[in-house]
Amino acid sequence: MSFSDLGLVPELLRAVADKGYDAPSPIQLQAIPAVLAGRDVLAGAQTGTGKTAGFVLPILQKLASGDATRAPRALVLAPTRELAAQVAQSARDYGKYLPLRVMQVFGGVNINPQISGLRSGCDILVATPGRLLDLAQQRAVDLSGVSVLVLDEADRMLDMGFIHDIKRVIKLCPAKRQNLLFSATYSEDIRGLAERLLSNPLSIQVAPRNAPIELVEQCAYRVAKDQKRHLLVHLIRAGDWRQVLIFTRTKHGANRLTQQIEGAGIRAAAIHGNKSQAARVKALDMFKRGQITALVATEVAARGLDIKELPQVVNYELPNVPEDYVHRIGRTGRAGALGQAVSLVSADENGLLRDIERLLKRTVPVLQTPVFEAAPDAHPASERPAGNHAASHGGSRRTHPGQSSARGAAPQGGNSHGGSSHGARSGERRHWNADSRQARSQRQRSR
Ligand code: AMP
Repeated sequence: MSFSDLGLVPELLRAVADKGYDAPSPIQLQAIPAVLAGRDVLAGAQTGTGKTAGFVLPILQKLASGDATRAPRALVLAPTRELAAQVAQSARDYGKYLPLRVMQVFGGVNINPQISGLRSGCDILVATPGRLLDLAQQRAVDLSGVSVLVLDEADRMLDMGFIHDIKRVIKLCPAKRQNLLFSATYSEDIRGLAERLLSNPLSIQVAPRNAPIELVEQCAYRVAKDQKRHLLVHLIRAGDWRQVLIFTRTKHGANRLTQQIEGAGIRAAAIHGNKSQAARVKALDMFKRGQITALVATEVAARGLDIKELPQVVNYELPNVPEDYVHRIGRTGRAGALGQAVSLVSADENGLLRDIERLLKRTVPVLQTPVFEAAPDAHPASERPAGNHAASHGGSRRTHPGQSSARGAAPQGGNSHGGSSHGARSGERRHWNADSRQARSQRQRSR
């Protein structure tokens, strides 16, 4: 089935072709006709499934056939600034051949340009709930013309405590409207929200409930808490990882780890809620361009990051909430590319790992921890004092090719994560309609 079979207008087909998409993803196949037909939709879809185009394309089409007004006719609520910016960008990309205006509003930036932007009018408004309510309080936005409301990553919005804000936003919208709810996971709260919000919805589930997407290869290493940073540096060098997203639990932890791995000679940046919007955008941009190898992020800040074919995600610390593990590893294996999620598990995190496995209904393979060395991390690579590299597991000191400042970084004996095959794998792509068996056999072959 192609995009043209879904009843999309030529302007949208052209924009989709410009993006280079061959075929609709499973969620697009189901969501696009349903949204065009005016149905409410409840979609269990993770990041990387193509869910954004699944709701943006039909919304653009519906709005293009209606009368333009100054007030927004479609409202998308998103949990984070990054996701809001990405959804708005997607709407601009897909809608580039249609005369529709898209605006994004979120906190952390000056509200005044948003007020004047809204005054000049928009068709689709993408917003985080808090800033939207600020704007509504200042009477800068009129939601009485909203005919389609989308809650994107609704589970995350609830986790972040936005439920009351969402309810207040809903009250500002007309009672008669189309509602679309997207969520990677289904908690009781989500079910409750869906029941209140949606009327006779089409339920779409493109991945098993609370299960990570098929294309992510998961594994864990057991390692002492104070050794994690050394193992991480080792894995990055030995695997020749070029683009790795690393999750820490706290903002402070993200800053500290960034300094530590930079001290070991790996280019890194931190991205979390205390950073200004400009700093976050800059860090993400550098990461996307390959100017930094590691992006160290907290859970909330990383939500909605769209980084194509991200090959590696590391859980430096396991999340307290097992569902967050699913979100985190959804950063990799996106859009048909194979990805790998590695968790570093210290003894105090065994319970968290068990919770994750219970949620996934499968075990996360624990691989033998490779030999690594504890390199000093307080000094930049060039200033490192010689001769104090305490070897963990008694490994030998071999310098990794191409990393002259990296000491003792190579593993002794291979494991499935030490080789350079991952660099090659990150380039592989799959078509949406290829089955998961093919993905599994590809993974087997590359082991
Ligand atoms: P999303 O799940 O909406 O965040 O989309 C994940 C990624 O998939 C984005 O980079 C999209 O550009 C890409 N994408 C969306 N639809 C398709 C498609 N039909 N074919 C290939 N890539 C797609």
